[in-house]
Amino acid sequence: MITLAEKLAGVNSRISQAASKAGRDRGDITLIGVTKTAGREAVEAAFQNGLRDFGENRIPDAETKFSPPPYPDHAARLHLIGHLQTNKAKRAVALADLIHSVDSVKLAQVISRHAVDLGKTVPVLLEINVSGEASKHGLSPAELPECLAQVIGLPNLEWRGLMTVAPYYENPGQTRPVFAALRDLFDRYNPGLPSWRDLSMGMTNDFEIAIEEGATLIRVGRAIFS
Ligand SMILES: *Cc1c(COP(=O)(O)O)cnc(C)c1O
Repeated sequence: MITLAEKLAGVNSRISQAASKAGRDRGDITLIGVTKTAGREAVEAAFQNGLRDFGENRIPDAETKFSPPPYPDHAARLHLIGHLQTNKAKRAVALADLIHSVDSVKLAQVISRHAVDLGKTVPVLLEINVSGEASKHGLSPAELPECLAQVIGLPNLEWRGLMTVAPYYENPGQTRPVFAALRDLFDRYNPGLPSWRDLSMGMTNDFEIAIEEGATLIRVGRAIFS
């Protein structure tokens, strides 16, 4: 049986190899452990083995596992990576260190309003449905410029960049064009903010390809927690 510590070490060494292959600095890539199938004990064990970024899809699960967290307050970051309904935005703002899944002007406005109320600045990413699959959330690439123009001045939001969920392919190399397209959108529509620095892409199946294409945040669940 492979322990969580061994799985985490394996993923970390694959990240280092992919970074070095791409001529990138390992320090520019953050591993987010996606805990949607894991419990509090696994979160705690991962923390004890050095993981400092956690990702959750659903607000109720995030609250159960991270409010309070099974590690000292503010000792790690919580990323919300799943589709977010406006009626849960207030809870998201209270919990999250980074919201990856902003996919409409309306949602950005609601998050901004709650952030103002709570006196917080919330780092955010816009989610793009690069592949156009009907099952995926996110703005279409065509909607991005107009949406960005409308959300960029909203108070108490810090725009960090873009996120996508790639389709699952048996051969991970097939995801490369999806990641390259997100990178291209990130560069082309760079609003010129100093905070614009993150590309959230790559999961268990394809994170090495995502790193080669410029990912700064990779979201890995199964390779660590199953
Ligand atoms: C579940 C999930 C992941 C992690 O996927 P794995 O294949 O388990 O690595 C990453 N991003 C999102 C949005 C997810 O829902």
